[in-house]
Amino acid sequence: MLGFDIIATVPEIFDGFRTASLLGKAVEKNIIALRVHDLRDFATDKHHMIDDRPYGGGPGMVLKPEPLFLAIEAVRRPDIPSRLVVTAPRGKRFTQARAGEIAAWNESSPETQLILVCGRYEGIDERVMEHFRPEEISIGDYVINGGEVACMVIVEAVARLVRGFMGNEESALDESFTRDKLEYPHYTRPAEFRGHAVPDVLVSGHHAEIEIWRRNRSGAARK
Ligand code: SAM
Repeated sequence: MLGFDIIATVPEIFDGFRTASLLGKAVEKNIIALRVHDLRDFATDKHHMIDDRPYGGGPGMVLKPEPLFLAIEAVRRPDIPSRLVVTAPRGKRFTQARAGEIAAWNESSPETQLILVCGRYEGIDERVMEHFRPEEISIGDYVINGGEVACMVIVEAVARLVRGFMGNEESALDESFTRDKLEYPHYTRPAEFRGHAVPDVLVSGHHAEIEIWRRNRSGAARK
């Protein structure tokens, strides 16, 4: 089982995420585990401070090293293979291939752990990176308020590739970015809606022709 351990400054962002839809079902069925840890619980002073002003001056605040060190050390399980990810705009761009690589790594052991650290404010004290040498992952070339949403992206993309998550494992093989392709267009009933008809070939029942149509309508994945 793949256990996601998320260290967050705003843990309540995950409230619905953890329990809803396919992810919630996968948690219920023990296909994955999803634990959210409040960074503030690891603060070392009486005011539960997790951030402080940056050395050298400048705007904004920086997440302090002490709570992050304590949180990572408390959460990390030494008895199973574990990986540590820090979300950061400067990190390596997250891709379907990376999601697949993490899901495949999970297969190497009956139990694995992916620890995800959510940054906030100006970011994280660099000594966390110096000490733990995490994988730094970016979800794209833009800046969002905190790592929580970035973690959700990573969790969803990886979890749905974990065996048993989707029920039908073939859906994952056919999806966009899996074979350097973007998936073909989909239609469902009714066959005609407000003057827009479903392509004839899809209602023909001719599987070989449907396959050819789908192949032709699949685009090349963006590089
Ligand atoms: N000062 C940082 C910079 O310019 O690179 C941006 C900090 S951002 C406001 C706060 C946190 O959100 C980051 O530490 C990171 O955890 C998360 N974050 C923002 N954009 C992200 C992205 N594109 N990918 C992954 N995480 C991101």
